[in-house]
Amino acid sequence: MAPMTFTGRLLEKISLSPDTVTLRFSRPPEYKFEAGQFFAITIPSPGEPLKHYFSHCDSPSEGHVELTTRLTGSDFKNALDGLPLGAEAQFEGPMGRFVFRYDAPKIAFLTGGIGITPVRSMLRHLADTGGAGRIEGQELVLFYGCMNEDAIIYKDQLDEFARTIPGLRVVYVITDPTGTWKGHRGFITAEIVRAELDDPGRWTYYIVGPPPMIGAMGKVMEQLGVPESQQVVERFAGYES
Ligand SMILES: Cc1cc2nc3c(=O)[nH]c(=O)nc-3n(C[C@H](O)[C@H](O)[C@H](O)COP(=O)(O)OP(=O)(O)OC[C@H]3O[C@@H](n4cnc5c(N)ncnc54)[C@H](O)[C@@H]3O)c2cc1C
Repeated sequence: MAPMTFTGRLLEKISLSPDTVTLRFSRPPEYKFEAGQFFAITIPSPGEPLKHYFSHCDSPSEGHVELTTRLTGSDFKNALDGLPLGAEAQFEGPMGRFVFRYDAPKIAFLTGGIGITPVRSMLRHLADTGGAGRIEGQELVLFYGCMNEDAIIYKDQLDEFARTIPGLRVVYVITDPTGTWKGHRGFITAEIVRAELDDPGRWTYYIVGPPPMIGAMGKVMEQLGVPESQQVVERFAGYES
């Protein structure tokens, strides 16, 4: 869909954890995008206006633009966090090709931490549209790596999607869990993918997150022998860790 520019107003700010925040902005009805795409946002700051890129967390089936981000203490993040409700921001979008393949029989999402944003967009859209257009019997597995149980962003919604989207399983991989955690521990590895997917070489992989995550998942792809044509990658350039 052709990119356009528009002005959005801050409608709501939701704190997801001490350093993770969701912001919702208004958008005009003529703004069209596909779940998983990204946009540029420019906000006022004490100096020059500041511009950053964010994946849509929201789905086309919702009525606002939603971004979720980690507050890093950068000039941009401080200005974003300081926006009062009703503040105006400039948007440009949509951009990118990180969009859902309705005709792929087996899709695995490999993501960690903040990288869940465009996946949430796609899953919300599938849930809201009843999965219209999906190939019959399509299997979806979301591998979601987080530092600990409290760091799982959108946990309630992901668990809801696992119950309501046919064929979807959510596999959490927790780096440093509490003693009671019964799921996978550590980072997402080729061994964990092999344990969860039969014939992993035949799946299409959506890989998204900060550059270190992309690098680590690239190695997992090599170990599993997955060709690039079966990988859809979104790199959150700008995050170092
Ligand atoms: C397609 C895309 C989708 C993204 N989606 C999200 C999202 O959903 N949530 C989220 O939190 N973040 C997302 N990001 C990352 C986001 O744009 C910020 O870069 C990130 O949040 C860090 O911002 P910062 O203000 O903390 O760091 P900054 O202080 O802005 O930057 C830290 C370092 O990264 C460099 N840098 C900044 N931007 C870029 C860039 N575009 N390319 C290369 N180097 C850069 C800076 O020069 C600096 O060295 C996305 C990025 C891209 C490209």
